[in-house]
Amino acid sequence: MQEYLGACHCGTVTFSFEADINELVRCACSLCTKRNAVMATVERRRLRVLSGEEALSLYQWNTGMAKHYFCSHCGIYTFHQRRTDERYFSVNAFCVDGIDATKIPVRQVDGKSRSTV
Ligand SMILES: [Zn+2]
Repeated sequence: MQEYLGACHCGTVTFSFEADINELVRCACSLCTKRNAVMATVERRRLRVLSGEEALSLYQWNTGMAKHYFCSHCGIYTFHQRRTDERYFSVNAFCVDGIDATKIPVRQVDGKSRSTV
């Protein structure tokens, strides 16, 4: 596994995690479509918020099970705790240092059929 660092746009929220990033995920639900998210899969226990935890806002919708976090200063989506398996987070690939999101295969997932809104 490799260690990665990530941050929101304004730099208030910084985080680190260990993961093997072999693929990224794009989800077709209405939220991921609007935020244009491309995400890396990270185990919850391997993700640490280094700074700005108090600046993170939580957005919940649909069943309210997933926890979508974004920086309350710059508005950038950083990561979310998944609805289907709370042991995993999805991390905004474009917030992560040292990965070229355009060079990693992207898997499309059908989050739309699992949502009611
Ligand atoms: Zn920010």
